Amino acid sequence: MTDIWQKTLNWTPNSQQQAQFQRLYELILAGNQKLNLTRITEPQEFWEKHLWDSLCGIAPLFFRNEEQIHPLPTSPSFIDIGTGAGFPGIPIAITVNNCTVTLLDSTRKKVAFIEQIIPLLSLNNVKTITARAEKISQNTQHRQQYDIATIRAVGNPSVCAEYVLPLVKKGGLAIIYRGTWTEEETTALRNAAQQLGGVLEFTEQFYTPLSQSIRHCLYLRKVNNTPTRFPRAVGVPTQRPL
Ligand code: SAM
Repeated sequence: MTDIWQKTLNWTPNSQQQAQFQRLYELILAGNQKLNLTRITEPQEFWEKHLWDSLCGIAPLFFRNEEQIHPLPTSPSFIDIGTGAGFPGIPIAITVNNCTVTLLDSTRKKVAFIEQIIPLLSLNNVKTITARAEKISQNTQHRQQYDIATIRAVGNPSVCAEYVLPLVKKGGLAIIYRGTWTEEETTALRNAAQQLGGVLEFTEQFYTPLSQSIRHCLYLRKVNNTPTRFPRAVGVPTQRPL
């Protein structure tokens, strides 16, 4: 897949990263025997929908060197909310130089699985937390502490914004991964972001390289402190999205 990585994301994995991706695939297949981690198990589909998809969201920041997005910290801290089996957080930890990645999920078994595989992937830049996003964001050790927060396949865009923006430092970014995207969703997300101290800075549209499926990533810049009333109590963001 070297050529496709390069053509589509302007980046090529080195041999160590390729070996880590291969090992991640094997470990997830093995983990799937006991846990319901993913329905995506065919090698090419796994490459496209988990590896490529995870990294397309950070490509504008780390692979394309776009002027308007910089400066980025040289040792960025990430948090991946609702990481499941580790997406997009683990591919990011494998790929971005000098980064640290915190993987958070509310399902203890999924986090236990990740804790098992991290040493097998030779990753020493990954931490894990079992918690609800609504709770961790009210904890001063985590609130407004991260350069970049990512979230994929966790909820509607306003819910995602309420989970991630409180965790991002002022000046940092939240990246919401989506499939299709509409103008109405843009309006709702702009409104939610504004209440949370963020602005929708830019949107990227991608087509996945093998099946040509549409993807969008929404980049929210944290411009003000998030008011302390956000995130609301556990369950409220999903019951009453901003
Ligand atoms: N991000 C992964 C991916 O794209 O493959 C997993 C997506 S999975 C559909 C959604 C995950 O979000 C589940 O593992 C679930 O436990 C977690 N989750 C949902 N709501 C959450 C919350 N409020 N706080 C923490 N984790 C949450």
